[in-house]
Amino acid sequence: MKTRFVSFRIHFTNVFLIIQDGRLLLIDTGNRKQVENISHHFRTAGFELSALKYIFLTHTHYDHAGSVSGLKKLTGAKVIVHSSEADNLRKGFTPIPKGTTPLFKFISFMGRKGPGIEKIVASYQPVEPDVLFEEQLNLKHDGFNARIIHSPGHTKGSSSLIIGDSVFVGDAMFNFRGMIFPGFADDEKQVGDSWKKLLDLDVKWYYPAHGKRISKEELKTEAGKFNII
Ligand SMILES: [Zn+2]
Repeated sequence: MKTRFVSFRIHFTNVFLIIQDGRLLLIDTGNRKQVENISHHFRTAGFELSALKYIFLTHTHYDHAGSVSGLKKLTGAKVIVHSSEADNLRKGFTPIPKGTTPLFKFISFMGRKGPGIEKIVASYQPVEPDVLFEEQLNLKHDGFNARIIHSPGHTKGSSSLIIGDSVFVGDAMFNFRGMIFPGFADDEKQVGDSWKKLLDLDVKWYYPAHGKRISKEELKTEAGKFNII
């Protein structure tokens, strides 16, 4: 089975297009109103948007689920998300998480200052998800040699897709100015538990949605600093 992937930046979010034996799966969709932009990236990579079969959302923050509704309407792609965030997608709203450092605490505070502000910042077009899972989901039946595991902490339903020696982790980790522990998290302890789970995988690379890929060694070092391992 031949696998490759293409990554592109939609504002501050890395979006990944997985291509396996000609089948297409998109990981996250970036902000709102990015369908045209994503379509452009598809064409640049030599694909038509209409060939998209699946969209896996690592979680439902607006900068990941922002364009999922538009993409689903246009392509009929099936939307995969952890069951605990299905209702967020149906509402088109996911609350802004807490910050884990003074800078991110401040950003989070500003975003949540009033319900009006949070609604404007964190809303997106609602969508009905198609495939829900709990602990894990194997995509073999759907023609992809890949699996998804629950890796919560950043949000309740945060999940990661494993393919070959790579894991696409969404915001379970960042790579931002030397900072790998996510700047935002609903539950910091859970992030640590998920890191342990991700470190146990037989993989080499972790691809976050914000920043460059992280090697297993780098993640181990960082986990040590936070007393996670
Ligand atoms: Zn997020």
